Amino acid sequence: MALRLFNTLSRSTQEFVPLDPAGRRVGLYCCGPTVHDFAHIGNFRTFVFADLVRRHLQFKGFDVRHVMNITDVEDKIIRRVAETKMSLKEYTRQYEAAFFEDFQALSCLSPHQTPHATEHIADIIGLIQKLADRGLAYRAADGSVYFSIEKYRAGGARYGQLVNLNFDEMRPGERVASDEYAKESAADFALWKARAAADGAVFWPSPWGEGRPGWHIECSAMSMKMLGSSFDLHLGGEDLIFPHHEDEIAQSEGAGAQEGGRPFVKYWMHGAYLLVEGKKMSKSLGNFFTLRDLLRQGFTGREIRCALLTAHYRESFNFTLDGLRGARAALARLDECLAKLREKAGGATSAPEGELVGKFSAALDEDFNISGAWGAVFDWVRENNRLMGSGEATPARAAAALAAWEKINSVLALGRAEDSEVPAELQALLEDRQAARKARDFKRADVLRDELKTRGWVIEDTPKGARLKKV
Ligand code: AMP
Ligand code: ZN
Repeated sequence: MALRLFNTLSRSTQEFVPLDPAGRRVGLYCCGPTVHDFAHIGNFRTFVFADLVRRHLQFKGFDVRHVMNITDVEDKIIRRVAETKMSLKEYTRQYEAAFFEDFQALSCLSPHQTPHATEHIADIIGLIQKLADRGLAYRAADGSVYFSIEKYRAGGARYGQLVNLNFDEMRPGERVASDEYAKESAADFALWKARAAADGAVFWPSPWGEGRPGWHIECSAMSMKMLGSSFDLHLGGEDLIFPHHEDEIAQSEGAGAQEGGRPFVKYWMHGAYLLVEGKKMSKSLGNFFTLRDLLRQGFTGREIRCALLTAHYRESFNFTLDGLRGARAALARLDECLAKLREKAGGATSAPEGELVGKFSAALDEDFNISGAWGAVFDWVRENNRLMGSGEATPARAAAALAAWEKINSVLALGRAEDSEVPAELQALLEDRQAARKARDFKRADVLRDELKTRGWVIEDTPKGARLKKV
């Protein structure tokens, strides 16, 4: 069955047809985290949504190339670097490491490439140069370089492809220096920001003087470098539609690298907010939970993933601990059924029964209708419980049911209950031990290590940091 998805660009649900003439390869870019602090689970709602899209595409046989950038230089980061007196790299790498730990705890597949803005300054400068050569970028009095919306539009291009903008209120040449700005204030935006005293040691040389890239240009430069000047899917949270993604289109199509009238991106998909009491979960409102907060409270990664996958990606939904407990209960029901099926199947193996796989996949094919997909899963649980209760289930039938579950679980990625997930309290002990080491309190660090050992876990050092392994 064909996959249909809601494309923000056309404001309609369309059949997904990749640009690859063979219909196999798919380029997917999802805007990644700004590593200025721990990500909250609102951020992770978007990354779990992107993971669902990628996994379902793979399930359907597409060969997905997934790129996610790491924004490791921007206004907020620079402020925090100045406060902490750390180097930019030291500061951002700690939050990047934490981000990937959380990302993995939620079973998100690692992107094939995770380019950093600071490692692509030459590509960024090259793209700005192209825009300058085409008359679309200009240097303002403060030395910063801006994108000219007036020139872009004068060349026949459309600014406002993802949102409707009112140009009557826009004064030509009006500029905005900050990376984040409101819808009403469509204005020339910064491509390159001239070095300011507050930037400290964060600057690079460029043809326009020392400075640093604006936020929007990094995604244009890195996505086109890694996926080509025209690619299939671009994802992010709904707050990125404007200005970030609109500006990405302007920069990328303004540079004119696309062949044969192709767009920069064929399908744009945006995930709705995770809310807290009706308001967007965000750092600035202070109404957020990090994944760590929840793990410490005893929830597991699979329970939190399940909760984040409750609602359709285009519907905002309220996060509550009760909701999370609801996800825990639903998973327990599923786990119980799976355990009974495993017992019944014994050693039997079978091809997957088709009904669950067909219904689940058909639901996701309809613009990732997750409620329909859950409906299929829980109908299946009910039916299997009934069969096992009435004695109608045979080992072969149970094995076929389990094989079907394994297939769809490659998309849901809920793992297995018995997978040795590190209990949250032990994870917290590990974190305390790492903190003790950092503070050079080696005595306490050793006590914590021994405590973990007596509880059956050893610490394993990996390139991604320390983790626990069962003895
Ligand atoms: P940031 O690290 O701020 O650049 O955000 C990373 C991703 O999280 C972006 O795609 C945002 O759109 C998304 N995001 C931020 N807040 C929320 C939220 N409350 N719900 C869902 N996605 C969010
Ligand atoms: Zn981006």
